[in-house]
Amino acid sequence: APASYAFALPEVDTDGLARSHLFYQSRQRRPMLDRASGVHMWDVTGKRYLDGSSGAMVSNIGHSDPVVLNAMRAQMEKSTFGYRLHFENAPAENLARFVADLCPTGLDRVFFVSGGSEAVESALKLARQYALAVGQASRFKVISRYPSYHGATFGALAVTGTASMTAPFAPMMHEMPKIPAPTCYLDRDSLTMEERGRRYADMLEAEILRQGPETVLAFIMEPVGGASTGALVAPDSYYPRVREICDAYGVLLIYDEVMTGAGRTGRFLAAEHWGITPDLIALSKGFAAGYAPLGALVAPDRLVEPVMEHGGFIHGYTYAGNPLACAAGLAVLQETVGRDLPGNAARIGDQLKARLDGLKDRFPFIGDVRGKGLLLAVELVADRETMTPLPPEKMAAARLVDLAYERGLIIYWRRTRGGYLGDHIMVCPPLILTEDQIDEIMDPLTDALVALSAELGV
Ligand code: PLP
Repeated sequence: APASYAFALPEVDTDGLARSHLFYQSRQRRPMLDRASGVHMWDVTGKRYLDGSSGAMVSNIGHSDPVVLNAMRAQMEKSTFGYRLHFENAPAENLARFVADLCPTGLDRVFFVSGGSEAVESALKLARQYALAVGQASRFKVISRYPSYHGATFGALAVTGTASMTAPFAPMMHEMPKIPAPTCYLDRDSLTMEERGRRYADMLEAEILRQGPETVLAFIMEPVGGASTGALVAPDSYYPRVREICDAYGVLLIYDEVMTGAGRTGRFLAAEHWGITPDLIALSKGFAAGYAPLGALVAPDRLVEPVMEHGGFIHGYTYAGNPLACAAGLAVLQETVGRDLPGNAARIGDQLKARLDGLKDRFPFIGDVRGKGLLLAVELVADRETMTPLPPEKMAAARLVDLAYERGLIIYWRRTRGGYLGDHIMVCPPLILTEDQIDEIMDPLTDALVALSAELGV
């Protein structure tokens, strides 16, 4: 700090985190981060980690990418903030054009936000305002799936006390209808996978009819599940059937590509695997790959224009379209596309998935290995045949994450299948991972599984 400051910031006491002023969701604390480069991270003691989950599936292009750092430095020299009511800014314009070019035809309007929850909120609110603008005020229900995760902030508006801001979106905090996520791998019936896929999609139609189609605004889904389902991929038949049902009932189809977008599943958007054009797309995470808090809602003219004609979109965030964040996002996406990182995710993802699958021979408590590209998950079970979950008190996936962490490998975990039904870990390294670096995941992970096996007594 400059000498003129009347105070000096103390050195961060890394041993004294118990007395930290910071708090997060839980008491758990980790070592202090020092630096990161490529697929590696170092804590302040010098210990090196392989970032096997890209943080929370964020750092798609790896850490400290020099091209992105230079783009950010150059933008910082010019301006770091210009409020959208006062100035347009070139990084936001350029990034919006780049994103529109990367998205399916027609999805060419881009609304910037600072994260995934904001991108989802923006999709829900644009959908609602569109319905009002075209005389469909009765449509307000948003069907989603369980389990699923779409963000943390949905209640913010419910406690906003300005009628002009809240009235268009009433009723607030309504419990929205849910249908089961297509967990076809768990079903023990005589149907083929494709038949199961259609069966799960048909549950959407049944729910729309149960609710009354004239009340249903949208259906929101993660095209490949994130941490809530453990990289759940539906059978191919699911995707076109869902699109067909939404079209038949005038329900907007929202793809939450916050985790799957920006190349993680092997294509720029996961939607591309099935040739689906959703009505709205939410993006974040790999979109700016951790270099800046940034996300986006992508929408077609046909939804945006009626809203504009009826007074504009009653929604926005102070930091939205921030020039520094957008310069970072543009450089990240240029790196992503220019280096064909989605292609690398597909190629390395296939190899990594095959290696993870091979672990089943050695560890009977690995029930399923699934995912697409470098969005991969390993589900841990008591019995692979019946997919019976491990006892919840074993905390098997959480233990595995800790055992891997001790061995310098960062992975991610969540309990699956709603409430408590099972455990999985997410293995989602940066898309720049090379073939040689696969061993840097497999060796510590195998070692951690051996230790877990001893602890579980299986
Ligand atoms: N949507 C999906 C599919 C996510 O995986 C997440 C975060 O994990 C979010 C939305 C929320 O994003 P954020 O945590 O950036 O608000």
